[in-house]
Amino acid sequence: MISQKTIDEILLVSKIEEVVSDFISLKKRGQNWVGLCPFHEDRNPSMYVSPRLGIYKCFVCNAGGNAVNFVMNHEHISYPEALTLLAKKYHIPIEEELPKTPEEIEAQSVRDSLYTLNLFAENYFIDQLFKTEEGQNIALSYLKERGLNEATIKKFKIGYSPEGWDPFYTHAIKNGFKLDHLLQTGLVKKSDSGKYFDFFRGRIMFPIHSTIGKTIGFGGRILKTEEKIAKYFNSPESEIYHKSDVLYGFHLARKAIRSLDNVYIVEGYTDVISMNASGVENVVASSGTALTQNQIKLIASQTNNITILFDGDPAGIKASLRGIDLLLDSNLNIHVVPLPDGEDPDSFARKTGDQELQEYLKNNTLNFILFKTKVLSEDAGSDPIKKAALVNEIIGDIAKIFDPIVRSMYIKECAQIFQLSEETLNVQLRKRVWKNINQNKTEKREVEELPVEHHHQSTIQTGITDVDLIENNERLIILLLLKYGMYEVDVEIDDPKGVSYDKCRIDQLLFDEFHDQQICFSNPLFQKIYEEYAFVAPNIDSQEKIILYFTNHSDEAINHFVAQNFVKEDPEYSKYWNLRFDTSTRYADNNIHKLNNDVESTIHMFKLRLLEKYQSFLVKELKVEMTDEHIDKILDKLDQVNSRIEEISSRLKIVITK
Ligand code: ATP
Ligand code: MN
Repeated sequence: MISQKTIDEILLVSKIEEVVSDFISLKKRGQNWVGLCPFHEDRNPSMYVSPRLGIYKCFVCNAGGNAVNFVMNHEHISYPEALTLLAKKYHIPIEEELPKTPEEIEAQSVRDSLYTLNLFAENYFIDQLFKTEEGQNIALSYLKERGLNEATIKKFKIGYSPEGWDPFYTHAIKNGFKLDHLLQTGLVKKSDSGKYFDFFRGRIMFPIHSTIGKTIGFGGRILKTEEKIAKYFNSPESEIYHKSDVLYGFHLARKAIRSLDNVYIVEGYTDVISMNASGVENVVASSGTALTQNQIKLIASQTNNITILFDGDPAGIKASLRGIDLLLDSNLNIHVVPLPDGEDPDSFARKTGDQELQEYLKNNTLNFILFKTKVLSEDAGSDPIKKAALVNEIIGDIAKIFDPIVRSMYIKECAQIFQLSEETLNVQLRKRVWKNINQNKTEKREVEELPVEHHHQSTIQTGITDVDLIENNERLIILLLLKYGMYEVDVEIDDPKGVSYDKCRIDQLLFDEFHDQQICFSNPLFQKIYEEYAFVAPNIDSQEKIILYFTNHSDEAINHFVAQNFVKEDPEYSKYWNLRFDTSTRYADNNIHKLNNDVESTIHMFKLRLLEKYQSFLVKELKVEMTDEHIDKILDKLDQVNSRIEEISSRLKIVITK
């Protein structure tokens, strides 16, 4: 358990923009930072990071919170894990306290135990490689033969799992690890006869790490040259290892990917390691299969540019070409580097000098769609049917590209390759783009109608037209409170000698007005904020801190509402607000009069809406079968209401059309 003192320090020191930008690229926009939201399929940056408020907020999927929340959600780790990570980042020593309750012990157990066990195994395998005769003679010498030096071996934490029935199993049990966990990580298996044995035996061990460098699984390459046994064994999926979410080498490559703004995709462990050994660090492996949606997301969080290394044989190239469809949908710029015939990245990197490899990569990087077009059109030759099918396929690829300028560039090049006119291709392209747009539309509509939560979101986001007018006024009042509550305005004072003015805080003014007339908010969320504001405001000394208080509020609805309205300065989301108040940030200082008017009219407007509501309620109350006395009573009230409405609207100088 991390002590409260340490937690406080971590929270104090962590800077939201620094933490988030460890994982995704952020661009400065005004006071905030924006980037692609990693929590949904994001094409336009909709994740806002506010250093001032210490929070991140996505305006599309609603993800939001502070630095710890971000790390937890992004890395799918627990609260203590996230704190530990932040502590490491900011070099804060962690003061540990023993878990106090059985619940705390339980909560810590499974995932944490699996991590601990994998780390224990990783160290065991490393020791076996470097410190045992078997390891040195068989494994270390093999790795060195493959051209890997000790620095690279250590960088990737490569190890060796010795021959034998159960040396690791025995060692782990002796050190107190639970059998159940040994089985879950796949490091140990149970034989048909009921005996436990090591899954990896006589294998070079490549640990697989999570995005933050935790050991989550292993790949093991056999050293014997037996035909019957698979060359590679891999850890099974477990609570901490989801194969489809992982890119091998990612945590080591992240920095280089960001700084070089490009990532090389290769097939496996040895490719990543050999390229690293040759000085190419922005490289990750997809582990054999086509990239998954989550892997693409991980890449897109670092760069828009992805370069796939293709093994050099023509059959392989053609097979890989069609495995890239998901990537085309991802809005990334895709390039390829075809390697010479018969080479994979590992063998090629070993064969060439460092400089040579890097130059080869630079000089042989080709645009993916054009590369695909060339390869397949050579293949189709002059067969008209094959060619038509190919044109159709390529047009489909181009149609997936967002940027129309890039699309037209491709059309130009493809027209040349296919020997067709640009116009012919454009006609087809337009049809496909249109089809895609319509598809997206229907998909979106389905999503929007689904969750209840979304409905909640849209009432907050949409303009005023379709939203209850009263609620809108209530919103304005709340925003006024939160944004300008402590500002002072001039108020009229009834004075027998004539009109005089005095200064009054806006929040005070609102409370007085509402209290006198016993006004409540119809929206419970607003009522809650209003009440809590009244409670905390006396102890808070700046408007900034008020907003901070509510953005960090434990009630999600509250912090969401506040973040929604304060983090983002995009006028799209706060049109109405901007119209009424945003300019007043400026005039609050030099044109106090305008703010006065706005405050007054907002309050009046709100009262007016309430009165109107009451008015229509009264009108509905009037029924034919009522006693005269009862009718008189209601008409009396209606009279009062009408004169109040008149009075207020004359002050507001608006005409009521009812
Ligand atoms: P060799 O020395 O015979 O070339 P290798 O260890 O380089 O052997 P390859 O057969 O060349 O392995 O495979 C290339 C890459 O594909 C390796 O880096 C490895 O990581 C990956 N790979 C191959 N088979 C598997 C597998 N079954 N599971 C996971 N990765 C694999
Ligand atoms: Mn190989």
